[in-house]
Amino acid sequence: MNSSKRPGGDARAPTDGRFLVGRRVLVTGAASGIGRACAVAFADAGARVYVVDLAAEAAEEVAQEIGGTAYAVDLSDPEAVDSLPDDADVVVNNAGLQYVAPIQEFPAERFTLMQRVMVEAPFRILRRTLPHMYRQGWGRVVNISSVHGLRASAYKAAYVTAKHALEGLSKVVALEGAGRGVTSNCVNPGYVRTPLVESQISDQAVAHGIAPADVVEQIMLARSAIKRLIEPEEVARTALWLCTPHSSYITGAAIPVDGGWTAH
Ligand code: NAD
Repeated sequence: MNSSKRPGGDARAPTDGRFLVGRRVLVTGAASGIGRACAVAFADAGARVYVVDLAAEAAEEVAQEIGGTAYAVDLSDPEAVDSLPDDADVVVNNAGLQYVAPIQEFPAERFTLMQRVMVEAPFRILRRTLPHMYRQGWGRVVNISSVHGLRASAYKAAYVTAKHALEGLSKVVALEGAGRGVTSNCVNPGYVRTPLVESQISDQAVAHGIAPADVVEQIMLARSAIKRLIEPEEVARTALWLCTPHSSYITGAAIPVDGGWTAH
């Protein structure tokens, strides 16, 4: 039987590596780290990429490099989020930020900002793009969550709360989109070698009262069975794989890319 005739199948052949030709992919936080790696990987697969980020200049550079379009948008601003294109076939909700402090010292406005960027913005982007995906009977939602979408760590109240909420949102999209050709999944990395992690090293050194040099080994990799940071490209390849025909039965899932962190 031809794969295009199978229920839920996709006529695009993944074997040529350019299975996303003709597709539009919106990636948030695409100017740096994992988002940038996703933008590059999806463009390599043939997609036209909407490079969404607060950092206007860096977003423009990525867009130029991959032949995409940059959107300089602050995702904590609901109106700006609602001005983004609504015709994406794939949405990669990736933008995120971290803040490390005990709850009693955690600034309330920082907590709110993080929920806006990491929970409300994905919700607003999806409520605008899902109708397009439903109309054409195909769509993919990839939420870049974290091991902190599945487990908690001390001093990360806003981040752990936001990532757990994103997991919930992803599952609801999976249920609502199942009969309409739309899958929704989370990718759950451990510590990835990106600017977000570099900036945490000094914060965590203060919070835990240890030297910055010891943070990577003693804190970040303590729970990881594989003792190295993950590269952004490894996360991007997982996000891309979730958009191949081979993964069309995978929905509502959380896929750890964590070197065994959540095996504990
Ligand atoms: P990064 O700091 O390298 O990139 C994040 C990008 O998001 C930046 O370009 C930044 O400008 C953008 N951004 C932040 N706030 C924004 C806003 N208000 N509006 C628009 N854009 C905004 O971070 P990263 O490490 O690549 O993280 C990307 C995602 O991966 C995040 O959701 C993060 O939680 C998740 N993650 C990262 C790691 C890690 O170890 N780096 C691990 C697990 C999950």
